[in-house]
Amino acid sequence: MASRLLCGLTGLEGLRSQWGGSMASGGGIPTDDEQATGLEREVLMAAKKGLDPYNILAPKATSGTKEDPNLVPSITNQRIVSYICEEDNSAVIWFWLHKGETQRCPNCGTHYKLVPHQFAH
Ligand SMILES: [Zn+2]
Repeated sequence: MASRLLCGLTGLEGLRSQWGGSMASGGGIPTDDEQATGLEREVLMAAKKGLDPYNILAPKATSGTKEDPNLVPSITNQRIVSYICEEDNSAVIWFWLHKGETQRCPNCGTHYKLVPHQFAH
């Protein structure tokens, strides 16, 4: 019984190392860079150049002051924003941000500004 179990484990181990060899060039677990394809790959490559063509990455953290507001990209003149002021807040605040004006959160005083976003294509 014990020897049969050992035999099974050995077989599995051999199979695993075979997979590892064919999946990643350098061995080990492939990174997102190595296995991403299609749209995911396009977004990953753009992100490396600091671009976000589909506007899906997390916004850059700013101090949120009037001089350094959080920048919210939009393809129109307004965009709805939802956020949580403090980490442990249970309510999400929603508001419309309009082009041209820097808006201030009435709750925590963080500033937001709409910036034009261009599509990649
Ligand atoms: Zn706030």
